[in-house]
Amino acid sequence: MKCNCCGKDLGEFTFDIAFQLPDAIWALSEAERQQRAQFDSDLSRLDDRYFIRGVAFVPVQGTDRQFGWGIWVEIPPENFFHYAKNFNSDNRGTASFSGKAANRLLHYPDTCGITMQVQLGDQTQRPIFTSTDPQHPLTLEQANGIPLERVHAYNDR
Ligand SMILES: [Zn+2]
Repeated sequence: MKCNCCGKDLGEFTFDIAFQLPDAIWALSEAERQQRAQFDSDLSRLDDRYFIRGVAFVPVQGTDRQFGWGIWVEIPPENFFHYAKNFNSDNRGTASFSGKAANRLLHYPDTCGITMQVQLGDQTQRPIFTSTDPQHPLTLEQANGIPLERVHAYNDR
């Protein structure tokens, strides 16, 4: 399958873009970050706010591929501590819960603060995020998919 706008093949595009930190932590000075935040690649905290990293998948139309936004979602402390404690367990049986997206994605209206449903996975999987904000285009894209041209746009940062 080739992109209609440039003729590049599916295989020439990156299908995941990941954020190292929630925007609120990224925005801090180095000194403030050290004082107020704790983080690794999956869990982070800023003062009394708690975040987990996962993936918001968007299916690519006409293919079996999905584009994955590796983003952070702010979740309630009780869900955070449950996840942190059971990080090395199979958490697929844990009921889903909601949080708020904590990164601003390019190519969209501001995604910070939109509601995300969180489904935990097993030991090998990052949590899966699904936008439930009825006003936001990411919700529609996750439900209906995107053409390959959209993946092309996401690759031009
Ligand atoms: Zn293209």
